[in-house]
Amino acid sequence: MMKTNEENDLNEKELESEVKFNPPLYIQRYQFVFDLLNKNSHLVTKIADFGAAEGKIMRRFKRLSNVEEIALIDCDEYSLEICSLEARPLVYDYLFSERLIEMTVNVYNGSVAQRDSRLLGYDVITCIELIEHLKDEVLVALPDNIFGFICPKFVIITTPNSEYNVMFSQLKCGQFRHWDHKFEWNRQQFTNWCQTIVNRYPNYTYELTGVGEPPICRKDIGFCTQIAIFTRFQSNECPNEINVCEDYNNNYKLIETFKYPMNKNNKTESQTYVDWPTV
Ligand code: SAH
Repeated sequence: MMKTNEENDLNEKELESEVKFNPPLYIQRYQFVFDLLNKNSHLVTKIADFGAAEGKIMRRFKRLSNVEEIALIDCDEYSLEICSLEARPLVYDYLFSERLIEMTVNVYNGSVAQRDSRLLGYDVITCIELIEHLKDEVLVALPDNIFGFICPKFVIITTPNSEYNVMFSQLKCGQFRHWDHKFEWNRQQFTNWCQTIVNRYPNYTYELTGVGEPPICRKDIGFCTQIAIFTRFQSNECPNEINVCEDYNNNYKLIETFKYPMNKNNKTESQTYVDWPTV
């Protein structure tokens, strides 16, 4: 009898012992998100990451020097303990801050299926390798919260591309990359899901890309991780009138709040630069 995913207890790290990504795939995902937000930094002041797990994305987010607020949200208490450690500013962040403004980081225990008014006004929502962990009823509720309620400028969603799985000989036919995955979609299935979202929320458009290049001889299978970037039409502000009428206060449990200081020189008139002699 074929073993279940849980018995095999595979994860991406083990699969990467067979197919090498350089840098590792999870780093490529974080870097992709960072590069995109950095490029659009003039539009991004508040970012929320659903399914933040251990909060490793913070190492990238903290380098976005003009971000004002970050929310890291997960529903797993154990992960959130580690997440709080990761989100805490380091001594380095106090001594050598390059921040243009102070930044607040809130760590929340909450579900992507639940609305919480504190996320209204967020510019970016990221869901990095989250959706494939969601049960049907949570996956169904996700668009309402993100696109209908929070209504941010950008939504970045990453998920495995099941077509790439042929590269992992450790995976039995139909087996998923991780024991907790509820599904893994091929590119057409992910496209269909994205399309149903924009059909329902026509103030959004989306484009698809990915990270984790396939080998040159297997370009047909696509990226290992597929990524959807949803963008709200600029002119189309979020039609959020319903939000003010209903009470969605404090649905998430605030675990910790951290403040990242700004660069001291930004508080004074202007920064002085030293002209180093050229050799
Ligand atoms: N984004 C992280 C890890 C993703 S693993 C990274 O890229 O490294 C998926 C995470 O989603 C887990 O930590 C799990 O606890 C969390 N999760 C599962 N269901 C959730 C839900 N309904 N709302 C928020 N987070 C959820």
